[in-house]
Amino acid sequence: MTQPDFDAVVVGAGFAGLYLLHQLRSRGFSVRVYEAGSDIGGTWFWNRYPGARCDVESLEYSYQFSDALQQEWDWSEKYATQGEILSYVNHVAERFDLRRDIQLNTHVEQAIFNEDDDYWQVSTKDGDTVTARFCIMATGCLSSTNVPDIKGLEIFKGATFHTGNWPHVEPDFEGKTVGIIGTGSSAIQSIPLVAEAARHLHVFQRTPSYAIPAYNGPYDPAYVKDRKENYATYRERAKNSRSGFLLSINEENATDCNAEEQQRVYDERWRRGGLTFLGAFNDLLTDKQANDTAADYVRAKISDVVDDPEKARLLSPDTVIGCKRVCVDTNYYQTYNRDNVTLHDVKTDPIEEITERGIRYGNREIELDEIIFATGFDAMTGALLKMDIRGRGGISLREKWREGPKNYLGLAIAGFPNMFIVTGPGSPSVLANMMPAIEHHVEWIADCIDHLRTMKQRCIEAQPDAEENWVRQTNEIADRTLFPTCNSWYLGANIPGKPRVFMPYLGFQRYLEECEQVVADGYAGFTLA
Ligand code: FAD
Ligand code: NAP
Repeated sequence: MTQPDFDAVVVGAGFAGLYLLHQLRSRGFSVRVYEAGSDIGGTWFWNRYPGARCDVESLEYSYQFSDALQQEWDWSEKYATQGEILSYVNHVAERFDLRRDIQLNTHVEQAIFNEDDDYWQVSTKDGDTVTARFCIMATGCLSSTNVPDIKGLEIFKGATFHTGNWPHVEPDFEGKTVGIIGTGSSAIQSIPLVAEAARHLHVFQRTPSYAIPAYNGPYDPAYVKDRKENYATYRERAKNSRSGFLLSINEENATDCNAEEQQRVYDERWRRGGLTFLGAFNDLLTDKQANDTAADYVRAKISDVVDDPEKARLLSPDTVIGCKRVCVDTNYYQTYNRDNVTLHDVKTDPIEEITERGIRYGNREIELDEIIFATGFDAMTGALLKMDIRGRGGISLREKWREGPKNYLGLAIAGFPNMFIVTGPGSPSVLANMMPAIEHHVEWIADCIDHLRTMKQRCIEAQPDAEENWVRQTNEIADRTLFPTCNSWYLGANIPGKPRVFMPYLGFQRYLEECEQVVADGYAGFTLA
């Protein structure tokens, strides 16, 4: 019997890949990490656009597996910048001596399961092939950029950028006329800063987003001291929540409160700012009438800030709030009061083409020096399906997921033994604070591999019926909410031709319990051999 080169190959060196390496290596497994980028950090390596920062508080958007690490690292701001998060990533890599097992600039193209000897054969773009008992995809939910197929893109004379693949040499927008396509989270963070730098900024908006002020700023030392002294308690509280962070959901329903009470609660949440706004009432994401009260509140705030009523109208979403991810902003709406910013409605008149000189829509050509694509990602499945992954009988993942992603617990796929996905579709991932979601998956996977070693077994595979049940359960939970009602990337609706399936599992705490139960029941739903 052929012995594989490694116990595990990990694809991706973002927060997930780095922690996997640390966990597996400290349990004595041999690991090789492949990363396509020229350095580690994943999201925070690629998304260097102006204004990029987290929207979950820094003290929560960080690893908790090492208390020493938690205590020694000081976050300077409530929402850390991309640069600060990347410094943190590098600190972690150095502290735990991770770099020696990471191969950078290496794109994994193919992974094929060898059924005779139960291992994966992993091949890179450069033509190298290694074998490993386990193959773990830490390829990220938001790592496969989406550049829309707009006619003429290749003939534009100026520079183009994507927020998710931003150049390492910061572009200089001074004196330039810049266009930005998109008004999701990435655009909302970058627009205020690009507007300050550029001569003129043209924003091409198809669907407006709801943005809640961040009120970002330096951390209060007393607040940090309390958090650090009581980290364990805070982390435990976050774990026992629906979203994996201290969102503090009000258990009251908006529909049980009168208008005055609703206003009081929304005012209080607005003053706190950030994603916590969505926790104002318990029924905001399950009852359209309740949701309307929150949406009306935000629309009124937009009208208060934006001077021009027509711009305020265009910037006001008419969709369910929270159905697409709510954005967290600094001076976003205020930016539309600047003389050098023009808002273009490309919902009424879609972009027709990109010309040599700019963007044409509604019989007008807007001349531009440079174009920024803030057009998002082929989320959750994009990075996985770009690779040629083949399980039992040579079946490819692309075939298996033709009608949408199917797996068990968001972690493992029937027909693809010894392969795990970190924060895959079918797990809370993007609807939770991703850091505890990643840590939970990594620890679950490492425990599982450890268990197999103890039991002297070398193969684990999700059972097809367990997978079917899981997919059904994920959909049933989503169907009880307002999430399926809009064209979000959670549903794959931003990518033409992608099957419309709600991908994340709703409910972090419930999910942790499910995973724990599976283990307690002897890896129920899995076949161990
Ligand atoms: P990633 O960080 O995406 O890393 C995956 C890595 O895999 C990438 O480096 C990629 O190059 C590599 N890779 C992919 N395919 C291959 C291949 N075939 N071969 C080799 N390498 C490959 N989440 C939050 O909870 N809070 C936030 O505030 C937050 N802010 C965000 C801001 C932005 C701008 C974006 C885009 C996302 C944000 N997220 C946030 C989500 C964020 O993606 C996760 O929090 C987290 O960083 C994901 O880590 P990861 O290791 O799973 O994936
Ligand atoms: P996004 O939310 O998917 O936004 C993409 C934007 O591009 C949308 O406004 C979309 O309009 C528009 N668009 C796409 N194709 C278009 C076309 N052909 N013509 C006109 N407009 C087009 O992507 P994102 O802003 O990069 O954010 C993705 C996710 O990353 C976020 O939801 C969040 O989870 C994470 N993120 C977090 C932060 C943070 O604050 N920490 C920052 C950035 C990103 P439609 O809506 O009409 O499709």
